[in-house]
Amino acid sequence: MGIPYFRGMSEEARKKSVEEAMHRIRRSTVLPDAESVSQRIVAGDRTALAQAITWVESTRDNQQQLGSAILKHCLPFTGKSMRLGITGVPGVGKSTLIDALGMHAIEQGHRVAVLAIDPTSQLSKGSILGDQTRMERLSQSDRAFIRPSASAETLGGVARRTREVMLLCEAAGYDTILVETVGVGQSETAVHGMTDMFLLLMLAGAGDQLQGIKRGIMEMCDALIITKADGGNESAVAQAMGEYRNALHLFPAKETAWVPQVLSCSALQHRGISEMWELIVKHHHWMTERGILDAHRAEQQQRWLDDYIREELLTRFWQRPEVVERIGALRSQCTRGEITPYEAAEQLLGLTS
Ligand code: GDP
Repeated sequence: MGIPYFRGMSEEARKKSVEEAMHRIRRSTVLPDAESVSQRIVAGDRTALAQAITWVESTRDNQQQLGSAILKHCLPFTGKSMRLGITGVPGVGKSTLIDALGMHAIEQGHRVAVLAIDPTSQLSKGSILGDQTRMERLSQSDRAFIRPSASAETLGGVARRTREVMLLCEAAGYDTILVETVGVGQSETAVHGMTDMFLLLMLAGAGDQLQGIKRGIMEMCDALIITKADGGNESAVAQAMGEYRNALHLFPAKETAWVPQVLSCSALQHRGISEMWELIVKHHHWMTERGILDAHRAEQQQRWLDDYIREELLTRFWQRPEVVERIGALRSQCTRGEITPYEAAEQLLGLTS
């Protein structure tokens, strides 16, 4: 018995034959053309948007190229949204607030996309952020689009994919983009570098140090929001607001001359949400009227270019067969102290130059 085609073949030859066939099938997978997908995205087709995001985030060359081509067709339709960054430690109330704020924006006639940059996504597989169940009402709205954090080897890779996803969402007509991250490290800088307004959520009475918020993060924010202003917490909130106002005054003035505002809210009781939305709109007008928004985004574009080059060089370096072949041995030599990391690096870089 057995398949006649394989009869008389050695086990090894059979395996090889199957592998080659699989390779041909994989290569021949018919991908749609970029222009038609981008037209569907611009027409607001969510399935096309979700598919394009998968391609943009793909690690396969042909899919990635398709993703890039779609993005290129979509570019003329991008840039018309308010891009908001939101950060705060786990438990501060980000998802509850995004749910409330997003629904408020939708009631005002907007369409909302929620993206996430999760620096821990490699470990937790994106469990901290971007989980649709965390935003109960938004996830059921057809005027909202929620996308969990992209996964990639590096934060730079995640940030790049998120930027591209943001542009695709804009082309699909989402005019309010919320990029969420946990306030635990470098990811805030990445979010700040791709948004127009940066919101920092804080708890009253927990202390900055306890909340792990670094000075640099506070300095970046355009609005500081004290969450959970309810349940008898109000006086602690009022005190914290005063303290943070004073603290923010001590930072040098922003280039935009925008003075960071301190607000409070209770997402659970839906208090302070419309005030926060008004502030967001006010900030957007402030930036637009003064021509700051365009300048700010142009500067971000320049930095994206630099980031992209850095990221791409690294990826290409680590993929080089010579590097893959030598790295293990060089690492061992380094560990044994037979060679310095500097020498090892020079050897590897020498292989690729
Ligand atoms: P995240 O980890 O920053 O996304 O925080 P979540 O939105 O998941 O909220 C963490 C916890 O705080 C949950 O148990 C929420 O129900 C609670 N929470 C969120 N917002 C409020 C609020 O406005 N008031 C009160 N009392 N609790 C809140």
